[in-house]
Amino acid sequence: MNKEFGLHDEVEMKKPHPCGTNRWKIIRMGADIRIKCMGCQHSVMIPRKDFTKKMKKVLLSHQGE
Ligand SMILES: [Zn+2]
Repeated sequence: MNKEFGLHDEVEMKKPHPCGTNRWKIIRMGADIRIKCMGCQHSVMIPRKDFTKKMKKVLLSHQGE
């Protein structure tokens, strides 16, 4: 399973957003990761270690491009 992630990658989380969408885009990388719900555009900030635990898989990776 691909757990490598980077800026602008689209990821699936273990729990979907309450709006029903489970597709998020990474919009900021740092000690905290900011992700934006692709369904409703709501964004949340998550500490990196929590993000790593809660992220299920990378759907679309921009690494290596
Ligand atoms: Zn949403």
